[in-house]
Amino acid sequence: MATPPPHVFDPSALQDGDEGGGAPGGGDFEASLRPRSLEEFVGQARVLENLKVAIHAAKGRGEPLDHVLFSGPPGLGKTSLARILSRELGSHLHSTSGPALERPRDLLGILTQLQRGDVLFIDEVHRLPAPVEEYLYTAMEDFSVEFTIDSGPHARVVPMKLEPFTLVGATTREGLLSAPFRARFGIAERLIPYTDAELVAILTRSAGLLEVALEADGAQRLAECSRGTPRLANRFLRRVRDFAQVERAARVDRSYASAALARLGVDDHGLEDLDRRILATLARSPDRPVGLKTIAAAVGESEDTIEEVFEPHLLRSGFVQKTASGRRITSAGLRAIGVKGRENGENFR
Ligand code: ADP
Repeated sequence: MATPPPHVFDPSALQDGDEGGGAPGGGDFEASLRPRSLEEFVGQARVLENLKVAIHAAKGRGEPLDHVLFSGPPGLGKTSLARILSRELGSHLHSTSGPALERPRDLLGILTQLQRGDVLFIDEVHRLPAPVEEYLYTAMEDFSVEFTIDSGPHARVVPMKLEPFTLVGATTREGLLSAPFRARFGIAERLIPYTDAELVAILTRSAGLLEVALEADGAQRLAECSRGTPRLANRFLRRVRDFAQVERAARVDRSYASAALARLGVDDHGLEDLDRRILATLARSPDRPVGLKTIAAAVGESEDTIEEVFEPHLLRSGFVQKTASGRRITSAGLRAIGVKGRENGENFR
């Protein structure tokens, strides 16, 4: 994939995991900044507390940890937590993803390699094909599977015992999981967007690792534009570090961070080019809700990306309202893109 020019927001900045994918060099960079222990993991206090108790209890009983489901928007730390879990449990981590497991046979290959207590991490678990998902049911419940040997009249179904393991599933679309599948996860935790203060803590740690002289007000500015998402905060930091290095800037303070963000196409409201195009689309009919399909077609982005990556920030910022029949721009949203608000009864067009 070609690297987009700096002024165009790259949605993959939020969607890619750390292994391959994204912008060149992005993988190593993310891996180097990953929190490695529960202590290094910032925020999500309730989730961490629950996990600590579950790990402690499982270790005390000498049993594998219950299966865990992490849900929430991309870039909030689901993969990082899966890795931390396996480290805390002192077990091996086996990583795969829903779309990579096309047939039950693909899953069988992985399941039979698992040792007692290992963690099997399946990213995008909502994208498992139905036959693979159903095949997982007995593996999760009884640590056993069946497989067929031979074919035709000689075909036999052979049961096989597996080593007890912990499945950790991650999903950005919890609602797409079937009820029976979801019910098989003993622990289900939803990650929520980070506060600016938490993002400042993450940025400060990352700046230390990357040796960037990031001032407190500079970190605050980057945090405000990061949509509650550590992955995006770290990506901004890396870009700002590039500017600072080339321009030999000694320190990254608020004004330097703002100028750098502006060069990346991020405005004072933390809006990117695509946010502004979504708002402009809605502003064309400010009094009528607009459907997701229409918005997606108008801005040339997939419905999923709009719903998962862009919309949460627009909703949280109060720029857009979601109604049963679609999305509407608010007065604040109109103001953010320089269109006069409703309060004074001006014509929007
Ligand atoms: P997800 O799997 O939810 O898409 P990741 O676990 O891949 O998210 O996190 C993306 C990046 O964001 C990580 O590489 C890490 O640098 C950073 N990150 C995420 N959550 C945290 C956190 N709580 N504390 C510190 N860094 C974090």
